[in-house]
Formats: sequence, structure tokens, C-alpha cells
Amino acid sequence: MSNFSGQVSRRKFLMTAGASAVGSVLLKGCLGNPPEPPGTASSTTTSPVPAVNVSAADAPETTQAKLGYIPIVEAAPLVVAKEKGFFAKYGMTEVEVSKQANWGSARDNVEIGSAGGGIDGGQWQMPMPHLISEGVITKGNQKLPMYLLAQLNTQGNGIAIANIHLGKGIGLDLKPARDYIVGLKATGTPFKAAYTFPKVNQDFWIRYWFAAGGIDPDKDVNLLAVPAAQTVANMKTGTMDAFSTGDPWPYRIVSDNIGFMAALTAQIWPYHPEEYFAMRADWVDKHPKATKALLKGIMEAQQWCDQPENREELAAIVSKGSYFNVPATVLASPYKGEYKMGDNKPDISDKNLGTLYWKDGAGNVSYPYKSHDLWFMTESVRWGFLPPDTLANAQTIIDKVNREDLWREAAKEIGIAAADIPTSTSRGIEKFFDGHQFDPANPQAYLNSLAIKRI
Ligand code: CA
Repeated sequence: MSNFSGQVSRRKFLMTAGASAVGSVLLKGCLGNPPEPPGTASSTTTSPVPAVNVSAADAPETTQAKLGYIPIVEAAPLVVAKEKGFFAKYGMTEVEVSKQANWGSARDNVEIGSAGGGIDGGQWQMPMPHLISEGVITKGNQKLPMYLLAQLNTQGNGIAIANIHLGKGIGLDLKPARDYIVGLKATGTPFKAAYTFPKVNQDFWIRYWFAAGGIDPDKDVNLLAVPAAQTVANMKTGTMDAFSTGDPWPYRIVSDNIGFMAALTAQIWPYHPEEYFAMRADWVDKHPKATKALLKGIMEAQQWCDQPENREELAAIVSKGSYFNVPATVLASPYKGEYKMGDNKPDISDKNLGTLYWKDGAGNVSYPYKSHDLWFMTESVRWGFLPPDTLANAQTIIDKVNREDLWREAAKEIGIAAADIPTSTSRGIEKFFDGHQFDPANPQAYLNSLAIKRI
């Protein structure tokens, strides 16, 4: 894969990633970060679930694992598996769930590994596990094989717009506002839009949305990586026009009078792939039973997280000072799928448009479809993040990284109903709000169908 790893400059990636690194550090602060209300932590965790009797043959090779996470709703299954005792239930009694300062740190720490004080794996945006495996974003472009094991969540993200653009028709379909947005560039004040980390999910969501509205994200607007805290602060002072963000911000933007919501990612691509659980391949190869035990704990946590009656306790657990350190109240509404959109758009109250962890309208959330890995690779080619010939190698890379086989084994072993275990590694044709379709059997046709692209 020399093409794959060689043609993307790590230095260039890190230069942009550096800014977002600071952002993640500040993310906590930008959520408001008030002192934790008394009693919040103590009222949360009920007694852990009892351990299952694992036979000696099935006992995990180790009881320890160190998993990195970023304090956002995507991390909830890892936090809950630890806090509610689902890891311990399967013999993983010493799992450390370790807060990472930012995505760059998570990458650095997985390169180090837990033996050196880093991490064995954890939560990732896409396609970071593939980029790390292929040495695209690692030190000295050293390949560090990783295995993708489960998807953590779908949806829960959105695109926020500053109030100075109220009344300009900026919504899910951007075409009515295209001339206005593009026109800002001619007057010397180009529309500035931000994501917090380059070449991963949020960068893709905002690019897709612009391009669907006939706006070239590289030419018609200024698209840049900005620390999360700065995006909010800059929007308040009017120097940032838009940013791509995750819960609870899509809910808070309007209630905190920061701006309004153009769209939720659930509207752009219903049940889209979001963040994933992945581990170092050497750790998994050495500890196959422990890996499945982790997967079982995460799957149970995901099922628990999606029960409506558990959502209040879920908000209380993840909001604790030791985890996200936000008031539980800011998570309550987005966890019910309640969003104020602003700009005369109707409010949303539909849990199927919010963060989901186990089941969605397309089936199983947790199962890591290879067809979704392929979309991320294809979209990376679309925007010139990876060379065009990546598509010829994509399936080889995906087959090395994606271990849906382990997910299946773990699911069967804990008695997940056959109907909840996908029968194919492809979810089939994906449909976007603007009518475009991604057929995993023909990614080139998808690329050909798109008007705005870098290839
Ligand atoms: Ca996200």
C-alpha cells in the first residue's frame, strides 16, 4: 500500500490536526463545565450486573485492557460497559476507560500501546483505524495494524449556523441559499465553516452538505479545522459562520442563543455510520477471547443505552465529572431526540433522529458493515484525501482491518437473536437526502454521479 500511505503527507495532516487537538482539550470547557450538581454522581450507578460463569476454556487471556475515549456521546457504550459492569460480567474486570485529550492524542497513545503507558484501542472516528493501519497518520508513516470491531453509535451530529445568517434560507437543502453564501466571498467576507478534526466524519458531513447544495467546500467557502471551544466562541462573536458538531451542541445551539441548526446528520444520511470501537491488531491476536469479552460487554451496553427507560440514568452516568463533566440536563433532550432548529424551522422531537447505539431503522447499529468502511474510503478519494487508486486496494485494506467475523462470534455467543445479526457485510445501497446513492458494489458510479469532487 505504498501509494496509500505515501501520498498523504503526515506532516500536513498533523498541521491541521494540531489545531483540533487543542479543541478537544477545551471541549469540556466549551460545554459549559459548571460544577457538578451535588448528588449527580452518587445517584447514577446501580449495582453491577453479575458475572457469567465462563468455562476455563472460554476465560479471557487477560482481565485488563486500556481503552481510550473522547468525552462525547459516541463514547457512551464504553463508559456504560465499565460503569454498569458489562465488561466485568464477561471476565474483563480490569478495563480502564481512559479519557483522551483529543483525537491526535488517542492516535499517539495507541501507537505507544498500554505497555508504554498508552492505550490498546478504544473509540475512533472514521477512517482513523484504516489510516493508522496503513501508516498514513502515524509517526514516520509506520504501519500499526488495527482491527475494527464494532460501531459505537449512529447520528447525533449536526451543522450549526451563526445568527447573522438567519432568514437566508440555510437549511438541509442549501440550494436556496447558494448564491447568498457564494456571494459572500466576492464581498471579501467568505463564509467560514469549521470541523474539529480533518479528514474524518465531521469534515465529511459538512463537505457533503455544501456540495449537495451546489457549493464547492474547497473553493466557494473557507473550510477549516478549528478547536471546538473556539468554534462556539467565534460563532458568538460573529467570526465563525458554521460548524459541524455533535450532541449536545445540536440541541444547545438554539437554546443558548449561539445560532441555529441547518440540519442534523440524521437528515443528511439517515442511520449513517458514526464512530467505532477498534483495537491494536497485536492486542487482539494475542487476546482473542478477551477481545470477544470486550465486544460482548459493549454490545450489552449498547442495548442498555437504547432502552428509553435507561436514557435518564445514561445521561447521569456519562455526565459525571470523571467522564464528560457536563450537567446531565444538557444531555436529557438530545437523548430523547429533541432538537430546536431555529430560523423558523420546526422543532424536532423524534428519538429516531437522535443518537442510537443498538438498533436503528436500517437494522443493527453495532455491527461494523464493511460497506461503510468503503464509503469512508470512497469519500476520502472524492476530496483528494487519499489517491484515486485507493479504490482499487480498498477491499484489501478493509478486509485486513474490519473484523466483523469477531463481532458475529461474540454476538452468537451471548445469544443475540439471529434477526439482529446482519447476514451480509454490506448494508446495501445507501441513500442520501439529495437523491444520491452509494452502491457499495460500484463506488465508482457514486463518484461519477457527484458534480463537486477533487478527482
Ligand atoms: Ca462524532
